[in-house]
Amino acid sequence: MPPVGVLALQGDYDAHAKALARCGAAPLEIRRVAQLDGLAGLVIPGGESSTLLNLMRDEPWFEALRAFHARGASLFGTCAGAILLSREVRHPAQESLALLDATIERNAYGRQVDSFETDLAVSVLAAPLGVAFIRAPRFVQLGAGVEVLAAHADAPVLVREGRVVAATFHPEITGADDLHAWWLGTLA
Ligand code: GLN
Repeated sequence: MPPVGVLALQGDYDAHAKALARCGAAPLEIRRVAQLDGLAGLVIPGGESSTLLNLMRDEPWFEALRAFHARGASLFGTCAGAILLSREVRHPAQESLALLDATIERNAYGRQVDSFETDLAVSVLAAPLGVAFIRAPRFVQLGAGVEVLAAHADAPVLVREGRVVAATFHPEITGADDLHAWWLGTLA
């Protein structure tokens, strides 16, 4: 199993770590930039992206994560993690890592349906995946090099650009581990 970590500053990192562990990995909870050394992949969990950004100011996280990507490691961002990875963030605009050629709008599903669960057809999985959308963002523009792996209500919800995978939903809370297992399989 490749060495993997979950960014554990804020949000749903524990559920991601448990999902990866159920898939046979031994995920590390990553709280310091120095812990990125030696990892093949990192999950950036859902939570609150603005809070995550604030917590990331304590250390040079942006520089470290861009170097992590540049050295060939993989990133899997879900919900707030997808927001952090995108090139441009709207509603409101905020700083981001820009490792995924996408424009994303925060809290895009409105108040009435701001949280819901659904079974999603994912191109790289054999069976539908049970996922939860929680105050989810929406991709409003994707670069030509970004592949759509799943869509919901005419919007892309799971995308991949090289070593960056991003989901606007939470795959870690329904107990369906297929997407985590697939991601582990993509790591060098
Ligand atoms: N609405 C949150 C944000 O804008 C994301 C929600 C989530 O990660 N579940 O950061």
